[in-house]
Amino acid sequence: MYLKSLEIVGFKSFGKKANLEFNSDVSAIVGPNGSGKSNVAEAFRFVLGEQSIKSMRGKRGEDLIFNGSQTIPRGNRASVKIVFDNSKRFLNLDFDEVIIERHVHRDGTNQYFINRSSVRLKDVSELLAGANIGSSGHHMISQGEADRILNVNPKERRMMIEEALGLKIYQYKRIASEKKLDKVKENIDSVQALRKENAPHLKFLKRQIGKMEKTLEMRKELGTLYREYFKRESAYLKYWSDKITNEKNPLIEKLKDLEHRSQEAKAILEKSRAEDKRPFELTDLKNQLNSLRREKDQFTFKLGRVEGVIYALENKPKKIEEVDNTKISLNKIKELESVINDQIEIASNLEEVNQIKGILNRIKESFTQFIVKHSMAQHPPAGGELLNNEIDENSKKIEELKNEKKQIEDSIKEIENKEDIVLGKYNTLKSEIEQDKNSNQEAELAVLEIMAHQTESRSQLNSLEMKEIQIVSAQENYKKEMNESYILAGRDAVQFKDLDLHNSAGVVLSEEEILKEDRQYQNERLKKIERIKILIEDSGTLSSEDVVKEYEEASKRDEHLSNEIEDLEKSAESLLTLIEELKKKLDIEFRNGLEKINAQFKEFFILMFGGGRANLDLVKEKVTRKKKDDLNMSEEDLVNEVENADGEDNEMGIEVDVSLPNKKVKGLQMLSGGERSLTSIALLFAMSQVTPPPFIILDETDAALDEANSRKYGDMIERLSSHSQLILITHNRETMARANILYGVTMGSDGISKLLSVEFAEAVKVAK
Ligand code: ATP
Repeated sequence: MYLKSLEIVGFKSFGKKANLEFNSDVSAIVGPNGSGKSNVAEAFRFVLGEQSIKSMRGKRGEDLIFNGSQTIPRGNRASVKIVFDNSKRFLNLDFDEVIIERHVHRDGTNQYFINRSSVRLKDVSELLAGANIGSSGHHMISQGEADRILNVNPKERRMMIEEALGLKIYQYKRIASEKKLDKVKENIDSVQALRKENAPHLKFLKRQIGKMEKTLEMRKELGTLYREYFKRESAYLKYWSDKITNEKNPLIEKLKDLEHRSQEAKAILEKSRAEDKRPFELTDLKNQLNSLRREKDQFTFKLGRVEGVIYALENKPKKIEEVDNTKISLNKIKELESVINDQIEIASNLEEVNQIKGILNRIKESFTQFIVKHSMAQHPPAGGELLNNEIDENSKKIEELKNEKKQIEDSIKEIENKEDIVLGKYNTLKSEIEQDKNSNQEAELAVLEIMAHQTESRSQLNSLEMKEIQIVSAQENYKKEMNESYILAGRDAVQFKDLDLHNSAGVVLSEEEILKEDRQYQNERLKKIERIKILIEDSGTLSSEDVVKEYEEASKRDEHLSNEIEDLEKSAESLLTLIEELKKKLDIEFRNGLEKINAQFKEFFILMFGGGRANLDLVKEKVTRKKKDDLNMSEEDLVNEVENADGEDNEMGIEVDVSLPNKKVKGLQMLSGGERSLTSIALLFAMSQVTPPPFIILDETDAALDEANSRKYGDMIERLSSHSQLILITHNRETMARANILYGVTMGSDGISKLLSVEFAEAVKVAK
């Protein structure tokens, strides 16, 4: 026995506290019409959590509260308390006694309590569902509701049977799981939507990060390039600035010196060229010399003639005999030869044509004198007398001639002296001029040489200066690159001092080798640097730290959302599995239960009707038929509905198939009221047999039975009471007879239902 007592306070007609103790298997509640018996049954429903006010014959919550009477004021609250013996733990609570209590207030609010603790309706429903008790169902048959199981549609019937089989708990769980699943799906959708919403931003940030990583790589590459560039460039610049410093000044000095020397040499040259009158003097001397020589030639010629005459006069024969002896002796000829040879000797040492001409004249003169002298000797003048005179005259003449000769010779001597002086001067001047001429040439050559040096040095200086311009510009560029490198490639880019450069064989390059590299490679390096710089600048100026932080946050958020989705999907999956398992379990247990119910149903039916056949058939719910009436339903929806119904056991319903003994008619529609009542009782009892509820309340289920059937009903009640406690509201004598306890319900003039324990005989009286 599970049901211990029921306490009703202020519920419906029970304006005052009423307590029902259920100490036996079968209790009957009897009393006149309108005394409040059904209110007791409803009090059971109420406390077990019935939500349909209508099923408790009210419209609003306050209809359940005692409404007062002419003498008694109305109450503010209705409360019903049911006490269970839970020593067998039929309710899933670790208490020997479980008290469930419900209050309803006039404002319609409800309160539920389990063992005096306030709870939710859900807690009450779940607790009871676990024990196969509900606020309605086959164990609570209201007045006139006995054949409800025959009136409902197959699906509702299926649900009633499920409940009777104690499968409602699975339904609860299934529905709760489905609700949870819906919620989880909703959450998945909203989290997915959130994730989708964040996705473009995340994608953008990821792209930025990608770009930044690329930029970082480029910066690294730039740093490496820069380091080598700086290493080489600094060596190059140092080499050239040192070279320029070392070479430029000496060159300038050298040029200054050359200029100085050149100026000096030129000045001297100019000066000597401007002041030199000696060539004129030389010409003058030469003219003097020529005229002296001409003069001397004339005297020489005169001398030759005088000497010739003297010779002729001196050699005039004094006697005839002497004339014969006048022959030209060899000595005379040799004398002439010697004279000529002397002249030729002189001539051979002369260069001047006029002088040579003078010599030639003298030679000619000598010949003429020689011939004249010797021809006069061969032809002497005639006459003897004359001769002495002549000799005197001759001597005189000779004397004169000799004087003349002496004078001529003196003149020649004088001229020769003059000539010697002039010649001496001439030769001195000439050699002087010659010498100066040579030294001028040397000076000119020296100037030319200086000029050549100047040109060479100037060109060296020019190229050095050109280089200097280049180096200055390269230095500026170097500084500019230093600044830029620091900004674009970071501090590392300028850390090149200790950098080692290697050749292709991996050997460290010496300073010399570094300098040896063709400048073109350095230019190419710079071009490459420029290209990377542009790429870095183009990659944007976003603060990388901010982006990284934002990306990290966004991806963390995304990861969190993704994890959440994963978790939600997992829980959706496990919920689906649970739902499937529940469905499966429900299905299996339902089919098993149905089989058992069918066995009992057949038995009860035969017991009731003394034969015949009864069966519950599991059929597909005829949704199509039902839905077809819905004019708004499209053909497509209809097909979908049917297709869904096909696969779903939920859509299966229960049809009752009965055939009475000895009657041809079949089907529920053909049964009489009593037959219908009997059938439903058989079915309800069958259901109660299979999964016995702790208690069964039957409100005038026996109303339509004749005496014979009332007996059969009574038999079945006894059978039923072996498994469940029975509370029977009845006017039926037979039924009353089967009860161990009888409660009489009366209602006095105060409109309040009252309870009293009555004897069977009294009960029969009271019931009537
Ligand atoms: P019957 O044998 O004819 O079925 P019954 O004994 O089952 O009768 P109930 O239907 O339980 O009688 O009781 C109905 C009575 O309860 C009515 O007289 C009705 O006025 C009274 N009643 C119902 N609700 C209230 C209420 N809120 N306050 C006071 N009385 C109420």
